[in-house]
Amino acid sequence: MENCLFCKIIAGEIPASKMYEDENMLIFKDIDPKAKNHYLCVPKSHFKLLADMTEEQSEMLKACFKKIPELQKELGLENGYRLVINQGEDAGQTVFHLHIHILSGQKMGWTPA
Ligand code: 5GP
Ligand code: ZN
Repeated sequence: MENCLFCKIIAGEIPASKMYEDENMLIFKDIDPKAKNHYLCVPKSHFKLLADMTEEQSEMLKACFKKIPELQKELGLENGYRLVINQGEDAGQTVFHLHIHILSGQKMGWTPA
């Protein structure tokens, strides 16, 4: 997808601190961390919303959810972690390529505002 930041990172056109990569996903550090550890898990196929997802893309997303807990040491997930998927305007989605935020390494509050 043209002009998509995460497609460019996947293509290697923009650098990122990569933590894990396979045929389904790329996991890298968020440039502006919202917790002690903040990673982004990005499926390699471009779609914005769960509502837009094809069957094939849903298999990719499933692979992401299965892989994340397998990386507990690498991502510092031992004491618990939070996954967030921002969808659309009210949630403040800023990059329109679906991604899973992985937050860990500290105790977290619970306030959506
Ligand atoms: P969203 O707001 O769409 O849920 O999440 C987008 C995330 O991408 C934000 O947490 C933001 O800090 C991160 N981000 C934006 N630009 C870049 C970049 O160039 N590199 C990396 N690694 N993360 C980025
Ligand atoms: Zn994209």
